Amino acid sequence: MSRQRIQLLAGAIVVILIVLFGLRGIDTNDTGIDDSPALNELASIADAEIADEARTGDWLAYGRTHSEQRFSPLTDINRSTVSDLKVAWYLDLPQDVGLVSTPLVVDGVLYFTGTMNVIRAVDATSGQPIWEYDPDVAGHIGSRRQVGWVHNRGISFYKGRIFAATWDGRLLALDAQTGELAWSSRTFDADRPLYITGAPKAFKGKVLIGNGGTEVGRSRGFVTAYDADTGAEAWKFYVVPGNPAYGFENAAMAMAAETWTGSWWEHGGGGNAWHGFTYDPEFNAVYVGTGNGSPWNRRIRSPGGGDNLFLSSIVALDADTGAYLWHYQTTPGESWDFNSSMDIVLADIEVDGKPIKAILHAPKNGFFYVIDRASGRLVSAEPFARVTWATHVDPETGRPVETPDARYEDGEAEIWPSAHGAHSWQAMSYNPVTGLVYLPTMNLGGRFVDMGLDASWRMEEFIGGTGVGLFEILVPDDIAPGMLQAWDPVKQEPAWSVPQEHPWNAGTLTTAGNLVFQGRSDGMFLAYDATTGAELWRYDLGLGISAPPITYKLDGRQYVALLVGYGGSYTMGFTPGLPDEGWAYGVHRRRLVAFALDGDASLPPQPPPYKPEPLVYADFPLDESIVMQGAMLYGTYCGICHGGGAVANAMAPDLRASAVPLDATGFAEVVREGSRANRAMPPFAALTDEELKAIRHYLRYVAHRDAGITSN
Ligand code: CA
Repeated sequence: MSRQRIQLLAGAIVVILIVLFGLRGIDTNDTGIDDSPALNELASIADAEIADEARTGDWLAYGRTHSEQRFSPLTDINRSTVSDLKVAWYLDLPQDVGLVSTPLVVDGVLYFTGTMNVIRAVDATSGQPIWEYDPDVAGHIGSRRQVGWVHNRGISFYKGRIFAATWDGRLLALDAQTGELAWSSRTFDADRPLYITGAPKAFKGKVLIGNGGTEVGRSRGFVTAYDADTGAEAWKFYVVPGNPAYGFENAAMAMAAETWTGSWWEHGGGGNAWHGFTYDPEFNAVYVGTGNGSPWNRRIRSPGGGDNLFLSSIVALDADTGAYLWHYQTTPGESWDFNSSMDIVLADIEVDGKPIKAILHAPKNGFFYVIDRASGRLVSAEPFARVTWATHVDPETGRPVETPDARYEDGEAEIWPSAHGAHSWQAMSYNPVTGLVYLPTMNLGGRFVDMGLDASWRMEEFIGGTGVGLFEILVPDDIAPGMLQAWDPVKQEPAWSVPQEHPWNAGTLTTAGNLVFQGRSDGMFLAYDATTGAELWRYDLGLGISAPPITYKLDGRQYVALLVGYGGSYTMGFTPGLPDEGWAYGVHRRRLVAFALDGDASLPPQPPPYKPEPLVYADFPLDESIVMQGAMLYGTYCGICHGGGAVANAMAPDLRASAVPLDATGFAEVVREGSRANRAMPPFAALTDEELKAIRHYLRYVAHRDAGITSN
C-alpha cells in the first residue's frame, strides 16, 4: 500500500485559544416582562412539539426532533420529482468563513449560527434577514485564548428562546422574535483552556452544554445543565474522577476512579464532551457522548492501565438531576483520540424478532454500536470502516478485543481509523421507512509513536499536546478515503455505499420521499435513492460543503436548505496527504441556500478553485539565519490556521501570497495588536519584535522557494 505521509511534531497539534477577560458568574440581563401576543405561541413550543416526528413545518432541534434522526416525513420532493429541485432563495454571508451548523426552523423563521458565533434569523421562505445577534467573541478574547476555530455546529430552541454557545464559553438565551439577550451564563472560567463548538441541547426546561479542550491543556471534562428560564446552573456532571483526596462528587465518580491508576488528576484525564447530547423523553434520560483521554497516551495519564471511565462512552444521566444511570464505553483505556462524541440517534428497531428501543452510535473508533437504551446493554457492534485496533467487539462482555500491537507503548503502531475517526461530528441520519442509517464515513489510518514520555510529562496550557510523540495520517489507495454508507443497524452491514475521493464530507438528511441528501467537500450537493443509493440529482454549489441540510414545508412548499462554507478541523491548518479542493479564504462566497421544486432564484456562480501564487518581492532583505527560528514560531502559533509550510487551506489567508508580512509595522498591527480580531485573527501579544521578524523572514523564504526563486 503506498501512502502519502505527513509527519507532525509532537505537541504540534497546537490548538490555540484565547483568554477571556471578565470572569463572570451568571450574567442575567433580563429584559423584563414581554407581553407580545405572538410570543405566547412560540413560548408554547416545548418537548412535546420537539419530539413530534409528524411535525413537518418546522425543524425544531439539532437533529430535527428529540430522536436526532434527521428524518422528515415530507414527500413532495421524492424520487420522481427531485430532478426539478432548483434554488428557491439564497443569502450571501460575506463575513463568514467555515460553516458547519444545522439551522432551525420555527414558525416560518430560519435560525442559524455562523462564523464567530453570530446568530441570525431570516424568513424561511425568502432568506430575508429578520435579526442578527453578534456575541462579540473578538471582544471577549484576551492574551492567551487565541481563536483557532471559528465554528459552531448549532443552536437550540425552547419556549420562545434560541440557545447558543460561544467559543469563549458563554451559553446565551435569545428572544427568538427579537434576538434580544435574555440571559448569558459563563460555563467555564475565562482562564481555562477550554472552548465550545457544540450545539446546546434544550429539554424539559433545561439547556445542556459541554466543551472541548482535551488537547489544549490539562482538562477534566464536564457537562452542565442550566435552567432555560433563568440561566442558573441546574446540575453538573464530571466525565472523569478528580483527585480522590478531595472526595468524589458522587458514587459514579468513586466507581470510575477504580478504573484509573497513578495520579491521573494531575493530567486532568479528559473526556470533554464537545458534541453528542441526546434527550430521551421515554426514559427521562440525557445521553452524553464523552471525549477521549487527556493526554491521548494512556501510559502518561494512567500508567498502571485501566479502562479510565467515563472516557469514550455514552453516559446516561437522569434528565432532572444529572444523576448517573448507566454507561457504555466504546473504547476502554482510550489511547488514540477515539472519542465517542459523535451523534446519538434514538430508534425503535427489531432484532431477532424482539423490539428494541435502541441507541445508534458510530464513534471515531470505527464500530457501529446498537445499544439497548433501557439498560445500556450492547445489542451488537460491527466495524463500518477499516479497523485494525480491534478484531471485534465481544458480544458477551461488550468489550472490544484489541489486536496485539494496537497500543504503541514503548514503540509505534499503525492504526486504522486515524485520530480523525471513521466518523466524526458530521451527522448521520436514520430513515425508519428503509431502516437504514446514512453515515458519512472516513477510511484513514494513523501512526502512533510512543516517545518514552512518562507520567512526569505535562501538557502546557493553551499550547497543548497529545503525549504522542509522532503521528502521521495514512491515506488508502485500495479503498475509497471517503464513503457515504447506507448502514443496516439490524444486519450490521452496509446496504449500499458510494465511494468518495475526499473523506471530509457533510452530514446527511433523509426523507419519506425515499431520498438521502448530502453535500461533499468538492461543492456538490447530491440526492440519492435511499433504498438503492442511485444518484438522482446533483447541484454544484462551487464551494466545499461541510454542513448538513434540513427540510421543512411552509405555505405548501417543501424546502431543502443548507449552509455552504467549507469548514471543520480538516479545513484548517494541516490537511495531510489529501487533495486540496482549492476553496480559499476570501475568494469563495459563503452562503445559506434553500432549494424547492421549480425554484426560480439565480445563484451567482463562484470563482473556480483557487491556488494562491506566492508573492515574489525580490527587494526583501531576507536574513536566512533567522528563518529556522521563524519556522518554529510559525509552527507553534500560525500553522494551525494558516497551514503547514505556510500553504493555506480554506480557513485563513495564505501568507505566502499576502502583502501584510512585507511590512514590519503592518504585520505587528495584525499579529500582535489584534487589528483583525473581529475577523478571527487573534492578537499574539507576547510575540517580540525579533520573533515577528523571524516569522516574516520565514514566510518570505517559503514564498520565494515555492515560487521557484533562489533567494538573494
Ligand atoms: Ca480529541
